Amino acid sequence: AMFDSLSRSIEKAQRLIGKSGTLTAENMKEPLKEVRRALLEADVSLPVVRRFIKKVEERALGTKVLEGVTPDVQFIKTVSNELIDLMGGGTGAKDLEPGFPQIILMAGLQGVGKTTAAGKLALYLKKAKKSCLLVATDVYRPAAIDQLVKLGAAIDVPVFEMGTDVSPVEIAKKGVEEARRLGVDAVIIDTAGRLQVDEGMMAELRDVKSAVRPSDTLLVVDAMTGQEAANLVRSFNEAVDISGAILTKMDGDSRGGAALSVREVSGKPIKFVGVGEKMEALEPFYPERMASRILGMGDVLTLYEKAEAAIKEEDAQKTMERLMEEKFDFNDFLNQWKAMNNMGGLQMLKMMPGFNKISEKQLYEAEKQFGVYEAIIGAMDEEERSNPEVLIKNLARRRRVAQDSGKSEAEVTKLMAAYTSMKAQVGGMSKLLKLQKAGADPQ
Ligand code: GDP
Repeated sequence: AMFDSLSRSIEKAQRLIGKSGTLTAENMKEPLKEVRRALLEADVSLPVVRRFIKKVEERALGTKVLEGVTPDVQFIKTVSNELIDLMGGGTGAKDLEPGFPQIILMAGLQGVGKTTAAGKLALYLKKAKKSCLLVATDVYRPAAIDQLVKLGAAIDVPVFEMGTDVSPVEIAKKGVEEARRLGVDAVIIDTAGRLQVDEGMMAELRDVKSAVRPSDTLLVVDAMTGQEAANLVRSFNEAVDISGAILTKMDGDSRGGAALSVREVSGKPIKFVGVGEKMEALEPFYPERMASRILGMGDVLTLYEKAEAAIKEEDAQKTMERLMEEKFDFNDFLNQWKAMNNMGGLQMLKMMPGFNKISEKQLYEAEKQFGVYEAIIGAMDEEERSNPEVLIKNLARRRRVAQDSGKSEAEVTKLMAAYTSMKAQVGGMSKLLKLQKAGADPQ
């Protein structure tokens, strides 16, 4: 609803604009305001918004506007890309630092969901076939220890505790010793939180940290924290040098602006997201999802994707025309390969719940292969690119291309084979097309 008016004005502008231009200070002004408002409404801290906007503005200036979209849409797409880049690729369990055992220290204010997150993480690791030990060090609140013991029982993970008469540092140390004795893969240490950032809590965290030297120190942040998130993250990061964060309560209304604040202020990634009270409600962090949630501009981005698809269609059309003339060089190969693997499509799929597992891998493989081909083709000269036979017949040239692209000769050979096979396929297609055009029955 918030972007209804924006969508409308974009549609109107679209009819007026016609051909593509570039992003200028002038045509970025309005969308800049919209983005700024969206970020603030998503509770991104004000200084973070300012720095972010300034950076994107500088970067976007002079960017070509895609045909069929307005500068507004182009700008928002740039912002979205920038957000995704900035928040980085958190990917769950493999995002935790290695260790034998892995020692994960949980930090955060009281009530943010720290104890719950400790239990969730234990279950998450358990599902990834890693054994865990939970350690309760909140000696100020017996209820907190009970809570962890109950959670542990519910997910069948042992909990180490020494009551409330021993210091947190001592309990943490003994806990790690116990983890070594048990031979578990990971030990998760829950710590005491306070209602506000205070020196006592930080000093204790520092002591526990230097006593057990954790592989990960995860700051648990409540997504509802709002504007204060930036200060909170700064304090914790300065005091104990966190390695990442868990953003909890993302099942609520929050648009997740804290995610951006965490990353921008500390440079550390969000590693997990809590999405409910149940122990299963922990997910890896997906920057694309978070970016679109923060911006809340789904419709606008859809508009952009549509324009992009239309351009791709045009490319395909051009390739088709070249095909009819039986021209098919390495440039066509790249276009065709990309279209075939529909990498844009996979990107979209990845954002949908349930699909992220399969498509993430597919996307990765496809992009990796594409990257190799792109590098090799990039190292060719104009003649080789537009006349592949030159290269296929000349070993010395292939060697040079391999060397210049930093890829192996085997990979260059693989590309030649892929090219030849695709050319044969499209050759067949083009004959069919010609027959059809001539009015003959292709059967
Ligand atoms: P701690 O004081 O930081 O250890 O916080 P707790 O783990 O005790 O959690 C505080 C409250 O938040 C509890 O009622 C939890 O059930 C709830 N909670 C924790 N994580 C989430 C979450 O991701 N979503 C929702 N909706 N509630 C959560």
